[in-house]
Formats: sequence, C-alpha cells, structure tokens
Amino acid sequence: MTAIFDSTLRDGEIGIELPESFDAGLYFIGTIRTPFLRREDCPRSGADSDALCTIEVFERFADALLGIEAHAEFDVLYWLHRSLRTVMVQRPHHRPDPRGAFALRSPVRPNPIGLSACPLVKVEGRFLTVRGLDCLDGTPLIDLKPHQADAGRRAGP
Ligand code: SAM
Repeated sequence: MTAIFDSTLRDGEIGIELPESFDAGLYFIGTIRTPFLRREDCPRSGADSDALCTIEVFERFADALLGIEAHAEFDVLYWLHRSLRTVMVQRPHHRPDPRGAFALRSPVRPNPIGLSACPLVKVEGRFLTVRGLDCLDGTPLIDLKPHQADAGRRAGP
C-alpha cells in the first residue's frame, strides 16, 4: 500500500490511495436538516448539542417507520458526504499526537459514516424531530435503529 504525502496533510499525517472500486453499495434513506450550515458551526459531537433537528425519511422508505414511537432514543447513521476519505493518520487540532482514523471519531475515514444516539422528540409522518446531531444541514441519512440501551424500553409519556 502506497502512502501519499501531499500539501493538504499536516505534519505527521498519512494519506493513502483508495481502492479502485467499492465493495458494496448503499441507499440514502433520507436527509437530515440541521441548523449547521458550515462545518465550523457543527458541534464536535452530537452529545454536546441540544439543537432540534429534523430527519426526513424518503417516501419510498416511510413504511419502515412503523412502530418508531415506541422508542425514546435512536442510533442515527449518516453519510458525512463532505469528508475526505484518504487520511489514515490524523492530527486533529484538539490532539497533539497523531492518531489513526479508527482511533478517532473524526469524519475523515475510508467510509465516512457518522453515528449519534438521538433522543426522539416528535414524529410527524415521515419527519422525525430529534436532538443530539452534529452534522451539516443536508447530510444524507443511511440508517435508523433503536438505541441499544433503549431497544427493550418503551417511550415514556
Ligand atoms: N457523531 C458522529 C460520530 O461520532 O460518528 C460524527 C462525529 S464527527 C467528529 C462530527 C464533525 O463532522 C462535525 O463537527 C463537523 O465538523 C463534521 N461534519 C458534520 N457533517 C458533515 C458532513 N456532512 N460532511 C463532512 N463533515 C461533516
């Protein structure tokens, strides 16, 4: 595997060449609407945010929402579509030492999947209001699952 060094990398960072083809495909199942229009407006983690955000599930997939109100918290998986995918060793501003992408929750990773545990506030048809997201407005949604710790628990009043 050839390491790539270019001028966009910080000291100590390592970039790679990605494989020529993908191993699997996925469907975007919706769009996430947040108040964050620029990366620098986003909270570093959804856990730091109380902002109300709207998850729009596309009409085609709306049947998959049946029973959703029974859960108080969801794992929301999203595609960090504005992210670089090639930098394997990174030096984020808040860390002095280089770390591998898999040792970080950085958006920069070969498969830029974001995961946040989000309390469900309201369901209106295929539009869900949640808290706890850290992504840009317009970020594609790839999956929703009841949060593990909540999977067997019913939503309160
Ligand atoms: N909470 C998720 C996780 O832990 O998997 C994502 C964490 S990542 C550190 C969140 C950061 O990714 C945001 O602060 C913002 O800088 C960046 N970001 C948010 N939405 C993005 C998008 N659609 N494309 C690229 N970067 C994004």
